[in-house]
Amino acid sequence: MRPLYEMEIIQIDVTNACMNSCSNCTRLIAHHRKPFFMDFDIFCSAVDSLADFPGIVGMIGGEPLLHPDFEKMARYMARKLPDPKRRGLWSTLPKGNKYGSLIREVYGTQYFNDHTVNTILHQPVLVAAEEVVKDKDEMWELIDNCWVQNMWSASITPKGAFFCEVAASFDMLFDGPGGWAVEPGWWKRGVDEFHEQKNRACPKCGCAIPLERRPSVDNIDDVSPVNLEALKKIRSPGVANGRSRLYTGGRVENWNPHSNWYMDQVDGEIDYRKRITDRLNGLPGGRK
Ligand code: SF4
Ligand code: SF4
Repeated sequence: MRPLYEMEIIQIDVTNACMNSCSNCTRLIAHHRKPFFMDFDIFCSAVDSLADFPGIVGMIGGEPLLHPDFEKMARYMARKLPDPKRRGLWSTLPKGNKYGSLIREVYGTQYFNDHTVNTILHQPVLVAAEEVVKDKDEMWELIDNCWVQNMWSASITPKGAFFCEVAASFDMLFDGPGGWAVEPGWWKRGVDEFHEQKNRACPKCGCAIPLERRPSVDNIDDVSPVNLEALKKIRSPGVANGRSRLYTGGRVENWNPHSNWYMDQVDGEIDYRKRITDRLNGLPGGRK
């Protein structure tokens, strides 16, 4: 784990609505009965709270372009964060979106991935560490080295600020007590201040454990038995519609997370991303 002030990026989850239904989505979107859309006022507080954070402030989902206030949010971000490189957008760039010129104008950091290739592999999120790793010392050692927290981001949802974006997703799905108040300086927290959030989310999460990853295009979530029961209790659509499978893969060897781990088996990653970006620019090569 690392302190939040050392992160390169902190995300704002503006919605969990998405046109895709990727396997093992970190936002657990298959299991929500209704998507959320962050209120504009909360978004403004989130941006304000990160004005002096030195890294990138990302807008992410779900698919952020589906938020009805996307344009207003983008313009607010542009006003409050003068350096364009600090304004980030993570998007699938849905077909027919109308925001090409706005995105080019506002976001100096763009990360586009439409998850359409079968070589993108997603780590099981809902296979609980505490169900797979019986030795608790080992479980906490793996969690303390979690690659998501070490390489990805803290995040803000409508329910507060969290030390890890996946912990934020667990809180949102299972109606947790919420995160820290979104106020100036919340992101200056060190590792010693994560305990409560960590104890709540990490044992239920599979991200830190060497598990078999699944192609995102399978549209299946791997789950462990206790998490499956928890999903049934909240009447998860992803269970009711057969999109969840009990995980049987066990612990795997050759599990080596790194910063481009979700894309490293995509042949021609640059071409793949260019085809998506062509869609932003309205060029004929854009993926449909
Ligand atoms: S694109 Fe896939 S991984 Fe991203 S939010 Fe949508 S379903 Fe989840
Ligand atoms: S919630 Fe999951 S992804 Fe986040 S730090 Fe804990 S184990 Fe890692």
